[in-house]
Amino acid sequence: MVLDQPHQPLQLRDVEKPRPSRGQLLVRIAACAVCRTDLHVVDGELPDPKLPLIPGHQIVGYVEEIGEEVDSKFKVGDRVGVPWLGWTDGECAYCRSHRENLCDRARFTGYTIDGGYAEFTVADARFCFHLPDRYNDVEVAPLLCAGLIGYRSYRKTGDAQKLGIYGFGNAGHLIAQIALFEGRDLFVFTRPGDHATQQDARKLGAIWAGGSDQMPPEKLDAAIIFASVGPLVPAALRALAKGGIVVCGGIHMSDIPSFPYDELWEERVLTSVANLTRRDGEEFFEIAPRVPVKTDAQTFPLEQANTALDQFRSGKLKDTAVLVMDVN
Ligand SMILES: [Zn+2]
Ligand SMILES: [Zn+2]
Repeated sequence: MVLDQPHQPLQLRDVEKPRPSRGQLLVRIAACAVCRTDLHVVDGELPDPKLPLIPGHQIVGYVEEIGEEVDSKFKVGDRVGVPWLGWTDGECAYCRSHRENLCDRARFTGYTIDGGYAEFTVADARFCFHLPDRYNDVEVAPLLCAGLIGYRSYRKTGDAQKLGIYGFGNAGHLIAQIALFEGRDLFVFTRPGDHATQQDARKLGAIWAGGSDQMPPEKLDAAIIFASVGPLVPAALRALAKGGIVVCGGIHMSDIPSFPYDELWEERVLTSVANLTRRDGEEFFEIAPRVPVKTDAQTFPLEQANTALDQFRSGKLKDTAVLVMDVN
C-alpha cells in the first residue's frame, strides 16, 4: 500500500520485490502494526516524508535473502522485527556518544525509507531485532514501536514511584504493564468522560484513573504524555511533586499553551523522547516476555490499511490495528 501524497488514501499497487543491497535483509512480511505516527505521516503532520512511500514501522517478518556483508546475527528463515530507526551514519557526534536516536542523518522506516505495509521489504540488518518466541507475529508487532519508544519514555522517569500516564492507547497500555511489574504506583489519565478506558486501567492495576482535566489524589514523581495534545503538558506539570519529570513520548503534539513559571519551578523537568536506540529495543525485548507484556490486536488484511487508519483516526479502534499479509 503506497502513499503518493499526504491527505490521500493509500493506493493498492503491485510493488516490485526489492533486492537486498549490502548489509540488508530481504524480509517477507507477516504482520505490520499500525502506529499513530503512521497517521501523522498520512495526514501530513510530519514534514518531508519520502514520496511515494510505503508506510509502517512495526514490521514482523522472516528473512528470505541476505545481502552481502551482513553479520551472522541472522540467517535465512529467521523471524525479525524491523523498527522505526532504520539507519544511522554511526559517525556523527550523537552516534558516537550512544545517542543514535538523535543521529543527524538517521533514516526512519515507513517515513524516510519504505516500510511494512507491503509483502516484502529490505532492512539494514544492524537495526533489526530478534523477537521473543513467546509472542506470535501479530502479538509482537505492536511492541515494535509503542513498546520500544514507550520503554524509552518510561526509562526517562528514573525510579519514580508515583507514575502518571496521560493517554492510555497502545504505548500507555504496554508501559503500564512494565511499571506495575516493577512495583510503581500507576495513575492513568484519559479523555475526560472516557469511563470505559478508566475502568480498563483500574482493572490492569492502576491506583487511580480519571480524566486529564482532573488532578490525581497524590502528587506524582513523573508523568509520561502519550497523547498528542499540547495542553496536557501544563496539566501534567501541575500534577507533579517537586523535582518531578514530565516526558512527552510522541513525535508530534499540538501547541503547548503558555503557563506560569511557578509550575516548572522547584526543579520540575520537562523533556521529550525522540526515536529509539538499539539498546532500548534489546532491553525492552528482554523484559517484555518476563512481565509478560500483553497486547490486544485487531487484524486487518493488508488491502484494508485505509480502513484501519480511518478507524484509528476516528477513535473507533479498541485494540491496536495489525495488518496481516497473505502468506501464500
Ligand atoms: Zn549519526
Ligand atoms: Zn510508531
